[in-house]
Amino acid sequence: MNKIYKVFPGGKHKVLTLSYDDGKIEDRRLVAILNKNGLRGTFNLNSGIVNPDVRIPKEEWKELYAGHEVAVHTCTHPTIARCPNNEIVYEILNDRKALEKVMGYPVRGMAFPNGSSDERVCNIAKDLGIEYARVAADRYADVINAKKRALEAEGPILLGDATGFEMPDNYMQWLPTCHHNHHLVKFGKKFISLKKKQYLYMMYVWGHSFEFTRNDNWNIIEEFAEMMGGHDDIWYATNIEIVDYNKVFDNLQFAADNSFVYNPSAASAWLCVNDTNYVEVKGGETVWF
Ligand SMILES: [Zn+2]
Repeated sequence: MNKIYKVFPGGKHKVLTLSYDDGKIEDRRLVAILNKNGLRGTFNLNSGIVNPDVRIPKEEWKELYAGHEVAVHTCTHPTIARCPNNEIVYEILNDRKALEKVMGYPVRGMAFPNGSSDERVCNIAKDLGIEYARVAADRYADVINAKKRALEAEGPILLGDATGFEMPDNYMQWLPTCHHNHHLVKFGKKFISLKKKQYLYMMYVWGHSFEFTRNDNWNIIEEFAEMMGGHDDIWYATNIEIVDYNKVFDNLQFAADNSFVYNPSAASAWLCVNDTNYVEVKGGETVWF
């Protein structure tokens, strides 16, 4: 029987993604840095807060964020775990509508403002067409601390060790690897050094572009972007591309004996067959191994 493993597009086993909030004018400088180095990410915008001196005006969104993803951060940035249901619905749905009107694609991602969420909020978001949501709340402290311990551990990574770069279990409670102020360059080096292919690895960086100006540390993201760009084994993706790719993979129809596979989706899926053979299964195709 063929041994089949999921791999990322191009046969890669690592994915790097970024997530930046609030759509402030410093996004211009951040996007330029990402674009220069081929890094990609998601920008979470508040369509209901208009202030051209501070926030990117909507007329500029389409061009500025081209090649990246635009996602929901609610209309007006409330701490939504404290809001009644109807207000959560309004804040998410109207942000979706405003972003979609400009961007021209279905907006299906979200970062909770102030990292605030609970099960009720996640369920409402899901019902409103949100397919993933980034969290950063205290209620995940255990997981966050475990991640931090794994990331900060020195020495080689052994098979079965936690790395802090694991794929998330629940995309509606998607925890980033780190904020950019938390050892970004050090963790980036560690991510580059991951060579084992038994697992898929993710590095997910979050923050606000205005923080680089406020903390006078643009050099951190410049150094990181330059170091992380151009690696053959890293897939540079937006948040939703990761979610969408998982769906393509999950929809694959394998023969019972793994001798062939049918891909009913429009997009390609990639497989590693018997450890050495990397196979692209294009949309609508059946591939025999
Ligand atoms: Zn925010």
